[in-house]
Amino acid sequence: MSLSPKKTPDPLTATPHLPVGRLAPSPTGAQHVGNARTYLLAWLSIRSRGGRIVMRIEDLDSPRVKAWAIQQAMDDLRWLGLDWDEGPDIGGMNAPYIQTERLELYRDAFELLRAADRIYPCTCSRSDVLAAASAPHEGLEGPIYPGTCAGRSANDAKAFADQAFSWRFRTSNANRHLNDLCAGNRQMNVANELGDFVIAKADGTPAYQLAVVFDDHAMRVTEVLRGDDLLPSAFRQLELYEFFGWQPPQFAHVPLVVGLDGRRLAKRHGDTRLSTLRAQGVSAERLLGLLAQSCGLRETAEPITARELLDEFDLAKLRPEPYVYRDDLLGM
Ligand code: GLU
Ligand code: ZN
Repeated sequence: MSLSPKKTPDPLTATPHLPVGRLAPSPTGAQHVGNARTYLLAWLSIRSRGGRIVMRIEDLDSPRVKAWAIQQAMDDLRWLGLDWDEGPDIGGMNAPYIQTERLELYRDAFELLRAADRIYPCTCSRSDVLAAASAPHEGLEGPIYPGTCAGRSANDAKAFADQAFSWRFRTSNANRHLNDLCAGNRQMNVANELGDFVIAKADGTPAYQLAVVFDDHAMRVTEVLRGDDLLPSAFRQLELYEFFGWQPPQFAHVPLVVGLDGRRLAKRHGDTRLSTLRAQGVSAERLLGLLAQSCGLRETAEPITARELLDEFDLAKLRPEPYVYRDDLLGM
């Protein structure tokens, strides 16, 4: 790790070889302790090398998005002591930073996929996918799409103008390698292990996989640090990087925070929302102390600020197993 100035670099003087990271909350609900740990690591990894951070709101999952959650996510992160050089609240050279305001920008990428016949209209419902195989082929993330509509070409979409469908990406049969900064060397065959995946709605509005690749490329993101639940998606995204001929970022997939039952932190584990901790008067330093200890950055959970962690940050110290959170650790 290079020498790490504690101050945030001035965006105007930031040089091109410095790393660029992003914080990409989905405003589908409140941000919780698990999100905080991942954002802290993403921020530390970039800031400890004097790099730039982009704040991007991933609000394309329309039925699940909550309007209040956008501002709250930014308030939560600022409360934690994290900052960014570009974002919806401060603007920047890659504006806009809210994905639903970027729909026009995704259009060309979508058209390239369509013109290359790399996508096809899929009219299957969720239950069709489940029922299609008598012994559903279970992939890493549930049943693998059985290819029911894969014989179609992009042009066939005209025939479904009055029907609901989604666009699927035709995966390649390549064995993809990923040298992850945290999860190590991995490989996967997307066609066999994940299957063709949804990339846009019928009207071309991108789904997560397309929007995230487009935006990380457009915003010149060099490092994507996020929860390891997205590790399989990194392989899908590599397929897209290859299709567009874009350089993929360095990936770092970090272990998630789980409850005592070993399951990913969620409502059933009690109220771990950052907004609740704030309202209850828990200090950010207290939470950060606990998170720093959980990441192996500190021996004890003594309260600390995000900035104070910059000097000792080292992703190699991160324990590979999920972190088991108990709310009594914060005296709740
Ligand atoms: N918006 C996603 C989330 O909050 C993160 C996506 C990503 O980091 O690629 O889970
Ligand atoms: Zn289908």
